[in-house]
Amino acid sequence: MDSQEFREAAKASIDHIVDYYENIESHSVVSQVEPGYLRQVLPSSAPQDGESWDLIRRDIDTKIVPGLTHWQSPNFFAFFPCPATYPSILGELYSAAFTGACFNWICSPAVTELETIVLDWLAQLLGLPATYLSSGPTRGGGVMQGTASEAVLTAMVAARDKYLAETLPSPGSVDEEEYEELLMHQRSKLVALGSAACHSSTKKAAKILGVRYLAVPTSSKAGFAMTGPALQGVLQTCKAKGLKPFFLTAALGTTDTCAVDDMGAIGHVLEQWSADFPVAAVDAAAAAATAANGTANGTANGTNGDSNARNSDVNSAPIRKKGEVWVHVDAAYAGSALVTPEAQQAIPGGMRAFGAFYSFNMNMHKWLLTNFDASCLWVTDRRWLEAALSAELHVYRNAYSDGGLVTDYRNWQIPLGRRFRSLKAWFVLRNYGVKGLQAYIRGGVARCEAFAGWLREKEDVFEILTGPVYALTVFRMVGGGGSKDGKDGEELANERTKRLYEEVNASGRIWVTSTVLEGKFAIRFMTANRLTEESHVRAAYELILETAERIMKET
Ligand code: PLP
Repeated sequence: MDSQEFREAAKASIDHIVDYYENIESHSVVSQVEPGYLRQVLPSSAPQDGESWDLIRRDIDTKIVPGLTHWQSPNFFAFFPCPATYPSILGELYSAAFTGACFNWICSPAVTELETIVLDWLAQLLGLPATYLSSGPTRGGGVMQGTASEAVLTAMVAARDKYLAETLPSPGSVDEEEYEELLMHQRSKLVALGSAACHSSTKKAAKILGVRYLAVPTSSKAGFAMTGPALQGVLQTCKAKGLKPFFLTAALGTTDTCAVDDMGAIGHVLEQWSADFPVAAVDAAAAAATAANGTANGTANGTNGDSNARNSDVNSAPIRKKGEVWVHVDAAYAGSALVTPEAQQAIPGGMRAFGAFYSFNMNMHKWLLTNFDASCLWVTDRRWLEAALSAELHVYRNAYSDGGLVTDYRNWQIPLGRRFRSLKAWFVLRNYGVKGLQAYIRGGVARCEAFAGWLREKEDVFEILTGPVYALTVFRMVGGGGSKDGKDGEELANERTKRLYEEVNASGRIWVTSTVLEGKFAIRFMTANRLTEESHVRAAYELILETAERIMKET
């Protein structure tokens, strides 16, 4: 394809893409193809001679689109959204055009510098404490990764090495063999923690690192959130077994129900846990920067709720203890809501609680109008990432890196190469502006409240189990006193809800996902998609109600 052919093909493709968006409702939300459908219509090997773009493009409509599930459809109410927008698509296009494996600053200074700036903008917008900023008091900063799963693994690697560095004698102070023994023994005792409701990525990261994993129990009584007493109980178990908790994922919006762990209580419990641990060496540079720096966003985010005393000024360098638990906040989906002050104010323990933690992650590609993938990870001290993940080869060396003048993001992540993800994030932040982003978030929340209101009007048919919260309501059908053929109310509610879930999805008109909460089969209904309007939610509700009333009659 030469330049002229590309010009024509690209322009036609843009028209094609816009047509797709404008007609997206004509498709069944979930693909209706059977497994293996594509092998039946594609040749069994690549063509020997190159084919024309026209020929290739025709196959998009006939062979690819039928196999798509339309995540951008306004009738997609499943999982969490994955919202594409035109500025973000343009970001992808430019990123593809400028492509490179931009692992060092010198590999494309704009790739590194824009990422640092955009993540500082976003940290301010989310109301994170100044310790998460690249210019903050503790050498923090943000990096874009592919997914929240990558982010939690990256944070856990840094946390593991921090724990080992802080709790073992320094490698030179004992002989090599002894050090190796101590290291291996300590590693075998490490345990990562998360709540029973937190996403499987924390457990998976622990599995990849070969450390233990323990779940802090949750229950409907506390809305499936991690509580202080439950965490305390697990820490006591660890102590009794000689295990060493070094990492904890605190969830801001769990996958099943969007529960938010009690951030203030987690801070308190962990402060007590490490009360007798030695203070980590005071960093003179950080202390000086603390004195010189203000807040991240100049608002009073740090003022609501109470948090632990040694982090009383949330925007200053907290006093760190050697061997304390690295708390990572998984805000993969719901973190985007923090662009609104009301969501910041709703955090249990307040935004100030994050001042005591070590890392924070949210996916712009889940709820902030940015194409997959755009997972943002901030740390309060980037040196822990660099200590754990730097790998040196002569070929990476250059005067800027050697002089310590620049950020080389290869040392903040697992892969070496990296793409220009921040471009699309920058386009979105600029094109929507803060007000546009806030309006989008609030729209999703309002639609969910409307949906939940309609469910409540039909208490004889539906029961809300959680929400509406962060544009997610989890509900089920009621089971009453049970069925004529002897099923009790719980069994009947499960049977009915499962049927409802299967039948509305089979219609192809909408797509919802399910979960099971304390044995109760439930439907998750998410209203945050960009193209979803209240009329779509109403039509979905009517389909759900009509189907549910029929099921009630039949069971
Ligand atoms: N954390 C939460 C709360 C999630 O809901 C999900 C996925 O839905 C993840 C993490 C993992 O996301 P990713 O696909 O970015 O790894």
